[in-house]
Amino acid sequence: MTETIHEKAQRFITEGRITIRYEGSTLIDADVQGDHDRYAVVVEIGDEVRCTCPATGDCSHMMAVLAVSLARRTGLPTAVSLG
Ligand SMILES: [Zn+2]
Repeated sequence: MTETIHEKAQRFITEGRITIRYEGSTLIDADVQGDHDRYAVVVEIGDEVRCTCPATGDCSHMMAVLAVSLARRTGLPTAVSLG
């Protein structure tokens, strides 16, 4: 069975592959060690999310970074939204 991007994001989190380099009120700058390469993810809060991987649209790296960041802000356990 093919791993969905949600499952992949959850796996990256479980394996500790997310490095938050900077987290401010309007910007998050993070690195994700993917399966093939290391990618930079930049989140402009309330605006857009960018990832340096070749995927178009949402990717597992963005999801993982957003989930980790949300958990840090709320104090809740890290979980990838299935929404
Ligand atoms: Zn990506």
